Parts: sequence; structure tokens; C-alpha cells
Amino acid sequence: MMDTAEIRRRWLDYFERNNHTVVPSAPLIYDDPNLLFVNAGMVPFKPYFLGQQTPPWDRATSVQKCVRTGDIEEVGKTSRHGTFFQMNGNFSFGDYFKEGAIRLAWGLITASRDDGGYGLDPERIWPTVYTDDDEAFAIWHEQIGIPTERITRRDANDNYWHMGVPGPGGPCSELFYDRGSEFGADGGPAVDEDRFMEFWNLVFMQEELSEVRSKADFDVAGPLPKRNIDTGMGLERMATLLQGKDNLYEIDEVYPVLAKAAQMTGKIYGEHSGHSATSSHPDDVHLRVVADHVRSSLMLIGDGVTPGNEGRGYVLRRMLRRAVRAMRLLGYRDKALPELLPVSLERMKASYPELETDFGRISQIAYGEEDAFRRTLDQGTTILDTAVTKAKQSAAALGGNGTPTLPGSEAFALHDTYGFPIDLTLEMAGEQGVEVDRDGFRRLMTEQRQRAKADAKAKKSGHAHTEIWKELRELGATDWQAYQALSTEGKIVG
Ligand code: ATP
Ligand code: MG
Ligand code: MG
Ligand code: MG
Repeated sequence: MMDTAEIRRRWLDYFERNNHTVVPSAPLIYDDPNLLFVNAGMVPFKPYFLGQQTPPWDRATSVQKCVRTGDIEEVGKTSRHGTFFQMNGNFSFGDYFKEGAIRLAWGLITASRDDGGYGLDPERIWPTVYTDDDEAFAIWHEQIGIPTERITRRDANDNYWHMGVPGPGGPCSELFYDRGSEFGADGGPAVDEDRFMEFWNLVFMQEELSEVRSKADFDVAGPLPKRNIDTGMGLERMATLLQGKDNLYEIDEVYPVLAKAAQMTGKIYGEHSGHSATSSHPDDVHLRVVADHVRSSLMLIGDGVTPGNEGRGYVLRRMLRRAVRAMRLLGYRDKALPELLPVSLERMKASYPELETDFGRISQIAYGEEDAFRRTLDQGTTILDTAVTKAKQSAAALGGNGTPTLPGSEAFALHDTYGFPIDLTLEMAGEQGVEVDRDGFRRLMTEQRQRAKADAKAKKSGHAHTEIWKELRELGATDWQAYQALSTEGKIVG
């Protein structure tokens, strides 16, 4: 088994042997007003790609810490999305181009493990190319030797990169690995992105865009004077493949936290399904959420984020509270983070030794947030109990035939005034045989959201989206999507 630290080491060694300069990861918080967090390996290199600065080297490589808040709702549900992950990149600034990038990628993934490579089975690799990128298609087919039926052409929604504004752009070629029929249907990445798992994206920056209307609607002005390469390989995805795991939450850097959470709650991970990659049993999803969020929180606090009510601080707060809440939904009522965070530290310190020296500060911040959330929960529980009693009394007064129902306004007040999460309200009311008027709750949330939107519009401040976000919390997936749309306007890759 190849552990994640070894996969990372091999990456850097390989590109160093191929004349790339190793550049350390930038912190998760980077000086870029469009980004909440660094979300791709190329972010620190942006001034070079935009021609604003001259790069000190022609070739560089890095393993960049990334956080994608937009992926939070995927965690535990797909097999391949973490909120924190590491993107391995190799970059060419006017040096090698399409053929060089494809040959370098192919060389590393197919070289045998004894030769410092990853030793993937070449027959299982399915590249994609942009609709009309015949050049990339020919390199894959004629030079590398991939049969045409394994090369998929995909349109700009999947395989064209730009920054959402006039400037550099170019087609991508993504690498997918076929994990086998037990993971899903035949037919390639266009059919099943769980069986065919994307692990590497090669971006060929070759043209200048004069106008960008949306992801797939833009005008090309002409070729760039200097063509560049930007690639991103998901380190955790490669670890999933090389460690033969079903999903990202089972690799060496993540799984020990999941195992600890299972032990603390007396759950047996995956017992509800033969194949844990596809298990959507709530217990399994909660365990994966705990493992992911604890690790992300460790990395975020390590890079200087503190819990707060907006922006980056709110993302951290939400992750910590979601982890604690997931433990609670698994039946665990005691303080959880003092048990879990040190387990994550043990796994991450090999690659990030500074986490260990800083752990006193990091843990104090994390544990303090759990304590604050526990107080919120205690307060909310008292109020909820009163509301539940009232709901039962009203039902009894009506003759006791209908199911007692907690009014939407009570659920909303709990959420809004006391920060008491709606799923806990549902669960705890349910335990006492009381339903919640979900429609009423949703209506009040929508009204509040519209007010917030109007407010934000009026303010037109650069941070308006975080204000909206404050109002949207806890409603569920659609709100994360709305937030994602607002917070990743400056999203760089893919
Ligand atoms: P997906 O389609 O699976 O969401 P993506 O196309 O959004 O991935 P890119 O923006 O192309 O991803 O990023 C480059 C690489 O980073 C991907 O090929 C993948 O290996 C990795 N990656 C992206 N998002 C995540 C994530 N949330 N967790 C782990 N790895 C990721
Ligand atoms: Mg991609
Ligand atoms: Mg993709
Ligand atoms: Mg994605």
C-alpha cells in the first residue's frame, strides 16, 4: 500500500527529475479578493499566467492545500469530494505544451512502482478532450496509443478552462480511471463519474478570450503569445486508487478519524451495505462527514482561520458544528473534538509538521467552538421541550386525533434566534412523537432569504454574499449551491 505522503513525495521527485522547481504550498488564505480560500493549485501562480509578473522559472511543481466550500454538500455522498484536499500541480510557463504535459502525466501514472511511478493499469485510463481539440486527441491516440473508444470528447461545460472574465483560456484533457463494474455502469466518464473517477485535469492555456458570457459561452480573440500548462491531480483521489479504497474517506490521511468516530458511537461503518463506496446509509454518511470536516477544520485553523459569523470564519464554524452535530446524530452526546482532532493531527503531521508545534493554539480554538455550540444546543433543547409540550397540549385540546405539530414559526425562531439547527429540531421533536410544520418553516426561511438578498443588493458591498450566506444557513443543499454560486465567482479550475 502506498501512503499519501509517499504519493506526494513521488510526485515532487518525478517533476524535479524533469526539471521543475518545487514550490511550497501557499496558505489556504491567499491574497485574492475573489476567493474565500485557495481552491486550485494554480492560484498562487495566477500573476504569471496573466502576464502580470515574469515567472522566475519555466517549469514549477507544487502540492497545494485547497478548500472548496462548494463541495461541502457532496461530502460523504459521492466517493470523491473532500472539503479540504491537496492538488498536485505541474506548470509550464511558455515552455512545454500539450504533448509535453500529456507525456509527463502518462509517464508518472504508468511507470511501475519500483521505478518511482504510480503503476496504474494503462488499459483502465480514459482521457477526455475538448470537443474540437483534435491535437490532444491525436496525441492520446497516435503517440500514447489509447484506443479511440476510450477517448471521450466533452464540450466546454466540462473541458474548457477560463477565469470567467476576458483573458487566458484553453481546452482541458481530464484523466479518468475505470474502477471496475462493481462501481457502476459501463460506457466511460460521460456515463458514470463514480465508476470512472476523475483524478487529473490538464489545462492547455492557448488562447485569449475577448468576451466571456458563461462557462460555455465565450469569444476567442486569438492565440496567446506564450502558451502555458496548468495541471491539477487530486492527491486524495490518487491515494483512493492506489490504496484500493472505495472512497476518499477511507484513505490513510482520513480514515483513522472515521474509525475513531465509529468506535466512540458504537457504529460499524459500512454494515448496511456490501459496498461502502455506494452506501448512502445516514450513519455512514455522518461518519464520513465527521472525518472530512475534522480534517478540514484542523487545516483551516492551522492556516489562521478562526470561527466567526461571516466569510471564512463562518465556513470554519459550520464545519466544526456540522462535525459535532453529525456525532450527535450518531448518538454521541459528550465532547467529541478532544477525541477526534488529535487523531487527525497524527495523520497530517507527516506532511505538515507545523501543525504539531501549533496544536496547542489550534485545539483551543476548535474545542472552544464545540463548547459554544454545546451551550447553544442546551439552550435550544430547553426551548424546544417547551414548544413540544405546547404542541402536544394543543393536539389534546382538539380531541387528540391529529398528530401534534410544532408550528413553523417555533422551528424558525429556534434556528434564527438560538442557532439551533433544523435537523436537530426535526429529530428531537420526532423522538417525542411531534411533527414539525416544515412548509411553514421553509416559507419563513425563504422570506428571510429574500429580505437578505434585497439588503445585499442595496449594499452592493464586496462582502454582501457572506451576509446572504448568514441568512441561508441550515436550510440545506440548495442554499449551499446558492452560496457556492456567490462565493466561487472567482473559481479558477474546472
Ligand atoms: P469533479 O468533477 O470530480 O468535481 P473537478 O472537475 O471539479 O472534479 P478540477 O477543478 O478539475 O476538479 O480539479 C483538478 C483535480 O482536483 C480533479 O481532477 C480532482 O482530482 C481534484 N479534486 C477536485 N475537487 C476535489 C475535491 N472536492 N476533493 C478531492 N479532490 C478534488
Ligand atoms: Mg476537472
Ligand atoms: Mg470534473
Ligand atoms: Mg468539482
